[in-house]
Amino acid sequence: MLLLVVRRRMTGDDAVAIVTGAASGIGRGIAEVLANEGATVVVADIDEDAARETADELSGETMAVPVDVTDPDETNALAEAVVDEYGRIDILCANAGIYPSAPLNELSTDDWDDVLDVNVKSVLLSVQACLPHMKAREYGRIVLTSSITGPMVGYPGWAHYGASKAAMLGFMRTAAMEVADADITINAVLPGNIRTGGLDDLGEEYLDRMRASIPKGTLGTPEDIGHAVAYLASEEAGYVTGATLVVDGGQTLPESQLA
Ligand code: NAD
Repeated sequence: MLLLVVRRRMTGDDAVAIVTGAASGIGRGIAEVLANEGATVVVADIDEDAARETADELSGETMAVPVDVTDPDETNALAEAVVDEYGRIDILCANAGIYPSAPLNELSTDDWDDVLDVNVKSVLLSVQACLPHMKAREYGRIVLTSSITGPMVGYPGWAHYGASKAAMLGFMRTAAMEVADADITINAVLPGNIRTGGLDDLGEEYLDRMRASIPKGTLGTPEDIGHAVAYLASEEAGYVTGATLVVDGGQTLPESQLA
C-alpha cells in the first residue's frame, strides 16, 4: 500500500508575513517556520545588519526592513514598503521586545517607559500600521508575542516586563473584538522559558534552576514558538481570536493536590 504524507501548508504558499524583532531569537524562529511553510517573510528589526543576514538565510522570498517599532513613522513606512513590494499584508507577528531586569527599588521611570514602549506601544503602532491594509482585503492574522510572565507567573526583577506582557493581552482582547466582523484575528502566544541570546545572559546556574521548574525538563526553542505562531497565523485558525496559546513545557500547569 502506498502511503502519501502531505505536509499541510498552514500559512498558505503565498502569504505575506511581517515579523518584528525577527533578526534573532524567537522572532527568527517564527520567521524560519513561516518561510519553510511557504510564506514571504519580511524581517523587520532595529538591528539592520542582523535583519539582512537573517533574511538572506531564510528560504523563499524575503525582505529585510530596518524599523524601530516604537516610532509610528517607521512602523507606517514598514507597512507601506511591504504593500508597495508585495501588494498586501496577510500576517503581522508583533514580536519585538526587550526584557532588562531591575529590582523594584532600582526600577526607574525611564526603565519602565523603555520596556512599555518597546513591548506595548509597539504593538499598537504595528497593528495600526498594518490594519488598514488588512481591512481593505477583509483578511488578516495578527499574532502577538506575550509571555507567561505577567499574566500567569511573576519573576522578581521583572515587574515592568510583567506589566508590559499582561498589558499586551488587554489590548489584544479589545482589538480582536473591534475587527471581528472581517476575517481578521488577533491572538497571542505566551512562551515560557525559551533558549535565546537574551536568556543566555542570565548564566547557566540560573538556567538550570529554570529547567528544574519545567515539567518537560528543558528550555523551549524559538522554533517551538514558531510552530505555535504558524497555527495562529494560518487561514484555518479563522475562528480563533482574542485567544492565548501557552507554549511553556508545562511550566504553568497547576500541580495536582493528589501528587
Ligand atoms: P531577542 O533579544 O533574541 O530578540 C529580540 C529582537 O527584537 C532583537 O532582534 C532586537 O534587535 C529586536 N528589537 C528590540 N528592540 C526593537 C525595536 N525598538 N524595534 C525593532 N526591533 C527591536 O529576544 P527574544 O528572547 O527572542 O524575545 C522576543 C520576544 O519574545 C520578546 O517580546 C520577549 O518578551 C518574548 N519572550 C521571550 C521569552 C524567552 O524566554 N526568550 C519568553 C517569553 C516571551
